[in-house]
Amino acid sequence: MTAVDAVTAQYCGHCGGSVAGGTKGERPTSDPHQGCHQRLAMEPPRYCAQCRRRMKVQVTPLGWSAECSRHGRVSR
Ligand SMILES: [Zn+2]
Ligand SMILES: [Zn+2]
Repeated sequence: MTAVDAVTAQYCGHCGGSVAGGTKGERPTSDPHQGCHQRLAMEPPRYCAQCRRRMKVQVTPLGWSAECSRHGRVSR
């Protein structure tokens, strides 16, 4: 089960921290954003996963939408 939708996600949508990964082939034994992922399953992201800008979040009856001024809107 993955909470990351964007393929190019570099930052955690919840806390804005950088997402682990990348250069080394080994996986971290514990994911520092595990709690964030659980939150993101229920809450809209606060930060753009691609540029770490603060998203403009709107909660709708159907869910939410979050908008980055650079990368546009994400909704669920
Ligand atoms: Zn996080
Ligand atoms: Zn962005």
